[in-house]
Amino acid sequence: MSKGILIVVSAPAGCGKDTILEQALKANGNLYYSVSATSRAMRPGETDGVSYHFRTREQFEQMIADGELLEYTEYVGNYYGTPKKAVTDMLDAGKDVVLKIEIEGAANVRRIFPDCTLVFILPPSFAELERRLHKRGTETDDVIKQRLETARKELEFAGNYDYLITNAALEDAVDDFLAVVRAEKCRRSNREGVIGELLAE
Ligand code: 5GP
Repeated sequence: MSKGILIVVSAPAGCGKDTILEQALKANGNLYYSVSATSRAMRPGETDGVSYHFRTREQFEQMIADGELLEYTEYVGNYYGTPKKAVTDMLDAGKDVVLKIEIEGAANVRRIFPDCTLVFILPPSFAELERRLHKRGTETDDVIKQRLETARKELEFAGNYDYLITNAALEDAVDDFLAVVRAEKCRRSNREGVIGELLAE
């Protein structure tokens, strides 16, 4: 059995990456979502072990010391990190693993797994992004302004990604993501051994 592929997804807040991934995971049963660890507080509606593995700062620092994390970063004052074992076990089992992480973590993962696929989700426009952030109604105008500023900075890194998906219409963005996964599965470097197996028949 061939190993799975590793797909890293980044997007500024409000670009819809959670919804896109939720739908893509429902549509493709071979995708495995890597649940990150974080020291940030749980938000309403989140579940420990599903949204994140919620840990205290001390517990998180112990995970770092024990080498349990593939990568980690401090983002707006909280730790976020990818548990190593779950990712490598799933890849070995042939699952295609999806990481939803910010740009610094994505760059670190690329260093560790040069063959991983980097996907960046873009908003159709900044005006639309602003409208969506207001619609969520969870943040003050000041915080929204900050998020838009951060989004502009994050977008500068989109040039390092392999694929750019614009989330103008959710269904299309989900289709685009699934198409990227499908194409990557056919990439020669991800199909090692297939020609040899055929010739050995
Ligand atoms: P939030 O607090 O909104 O859930 O996440 C904040 C940011 O942290 C998002 O950009 C999210 O993708 C990123 N993030 C979540 N998990 C990880 C992780 O394991 N590693 C890194 N580097 N970033 C993460």
